[in-house]
Amino acid sequence: MTEITHHIPDHLMAAYTAGSLPEPYALVVATHVSMCLECHASYEAHQALGGAVLETAGEAAVSEVLKSDVMALLDAPVASEPVYKRSGVYPGPIMTALKGRAPRWKSLGLGVRQCILSGNSEGSVRLLYIPPGQAVPDHGHNGLEMTLVLQGSFSDETGWFGAGDVELADQDLEHTPIADAGPPCICLAATDAPLRFNSFVPRLLQPIFRI
Ligand SMILES: [Zn+2]
Repeated sequence: MTEITHHIPDHLMAAYTAGSLPEPYALVVATHVSMCLECHASYEAHQALGGAVLETAGEAAVSEVLKSDVMALLDAPVASEPVYKRSGVYPGPIMTALKGRAPRWKSLGLGVRQCILSGNSEGSVRLLYIPPGQAVPDHGHNGLEMTLVLQGSFSDETGWFGAGDVELADQDLEHTPIADAGPPCICLAATDAPLRFNSFVPRLLQPIFRI
């Protein structure tokens, strides 16, 4: 793998560690952290900071029965969520989101495929498969869009993004990412505009199909 040059910015790492980052972005951060030693170290530093803050926080009294209730629950069976390891180009956090199965791709036309991992009103996260030389189907995102390259690479007006790199785009960035020559570019992309994407793609493809 080439050296990772585009990392998770500090404020997003802080939000991720605090647990306040919406789920779609959190999956991108977790996946990048699993690929990037530098951001893994940053994640651990933020966790240590969080622990230090907790230790200095004031105590709050809890009810008398809480301790006995908690003790009584210790032996209760807990259904644990299975955790999956990396498979091919998909790191563990993505395999866990895929529940251990291979991605189920849906065609967007022109060889571009997507596999939606999750989507709700908070946002969505999907895998994108873009053949070499093909433009990434872009869309109107209202806030932040995070794209993590898993295989291949793409380039746009802001630079070059290879495996492990994260691109952050806000609504002010007008960009046309194009997959480079070589293996197909497979990305993990999170955005806060889940429905907008689906309705925009056919419109985006219209000029390409000339319909
Ligand atoms: Zn990093």
